[in-house]
Amino acid sequence: MAGFTFRGGIHPYDGKALSREKAITEIMPKGEMVYPVSQHIGAPAKPIVQKGQRVLMGECIAEAGGFVSAPVYSSVSGTVKAIEKRRTVSGDMTDCIIIENDGLDEKAAPLTARKYEEMSRGEVLEVIQKAGIVGMGGAGFPTHVKLSPKAPEKIDTVIVNCAECEPYLTSDYRKMLEEPDRLVKGLQIETGLFAGARGVLAVEDNKPDCIALLKEKVKDIPNITVVALKTKYPQGSERQLIYAVTGREINAAMLPADAGCIVNNVDTVIAVCNAVTEGEPLMHRIVTVTGDAVKDPRNFKVRTGTDYAELIEAAGGFVTEPAKIISGGPMMGISLFDLHVPVTKISSALLCMSVDEVAKWEPSACINCGRCVEVCPSRLVPSHLADHAEHFNEEEFLRYYGMECVECGSCSYVCPAKRQLAQSIRTMRKLQLAKRKK
Ligand code: SF4
Ligand code: SF4
Repeated sequence: MAGFTFRGGIHPYDGKALSREKAITEIMPKGEMVYPVSQHIGAPAKPIVQKGQRVLMGECIAEAGGFVSAPVYSSVSGTVKAIEKRRTVSGDMTDCIIIENDGLDEKAAPLTARKYEEMSRGEVLEVIQKAGIVGMGGAGFPTHVKLSPKAPEKIDTVIVNCAECEPYLTSDYRKMLEEPDRLVKGLQIETGLFAGARGVLAVEDNKPDCIALLKEKVKDIPNITVVALKTKYPQGSERQLIYAVTGREINAAMLPADAGCIVNNVDTVIAVCNAVTEGEPLMHRIVTVTGDAVKDPRNFKVRTGTDYAELIEAAGGFVTEPAKIISGGPMMGISLFDLHVPVTKISSALLCMSVDEVAKWEPSACINCGRCVEVCPSRLVPSHLADHAEHFNEEEFLRYYGMECVECGSCSYVCPAKRQLAQSIRTMRKLQLAKRKK
């Protein structure tokens, strides 16, 4: 048995104290709203509105482009101003629907008028699909697809990823404390889709208050337990989490369902609860706005489509000019060069740092210390993989299991030579994945 952890990993400075004690506050969007049609893995959604059309809050504005896709909903009432390309977090220009917010919040009808208790399994899945729910931890995989494995009878464990192992992020922590009943209900809905499945709320042991609260909430629910995981990065990575909770291993060619597991993050499970019990589509999420360059770091409930710059304004602005701005956490996030990009279903955090820790070091030659090997949770040899990636040696990269990398960044973090190992490996992986797609 794994002992609720995994091999390798690191203990970076977690920076969570900046925002963890402050309750979530809601931001009301001010300017125009921008909705990319691709906020998920899979086919982009197809716009079903036209320029000049009035839309309501919670109205579908782009329908799913296939089974592995997700619809997009307007999070405000207003008028469609344009359908055009806009810059998004990835830096790419993407098709977006632009809505002029009228500030009235006139609501569309809920997705369903049926009570959860009266719904069949198929109806529950249909509501989750209709609601446009995707993995809100960052992956963006459509949740209805995850919950529809080929062999549902083989699923025996539904895990909620409550680890929140990325430094600085505290949105899941706040949600666990502020909405535990919705979290538990969402997990009950998900376990209810698989006969005999148990539910596990897997929380890192640096959140004892969440562990105690959730244990209290599930004490009378026989098939749901709370598991305390060792605090270690990347504990919340899907493969590491499954291993820690069940002792089962999966590789890059497998899905969690192949190991009898379904894994969803906290916000996603709460979105499932909101959709099934209240007919609410996915229109908002929690975003941690933090870092030493921000005046008042905290968590905000933000509507999708809101401009990132509005989040900084709501957090009191900058105390100093940030040297680095990241969408997401410091280990796996994406550097931002323009703050005028929209919040999407997968925007977890906005991290603003006064010092760019990566740029201040010049990489030097490998000293063969082996530290990158010690910390790699995928049991790889990052120094060699990075060499193969940098020399574009695809054959060797694949032969030494480069595709098994989970892109956690632990190797770069510990490297005394400051080699950008994870970055090189990530670039090569992306290329290989794109080739496979073709
Ligand atoms: S090689 Fe990949 S999985 Fe291993 S430590 Fe580096 S980034 Fe993480
Ligand atoms: S941690 Fe850096 S210096 Fe040490 S073996 Fe790996 S690449 Fe080389």
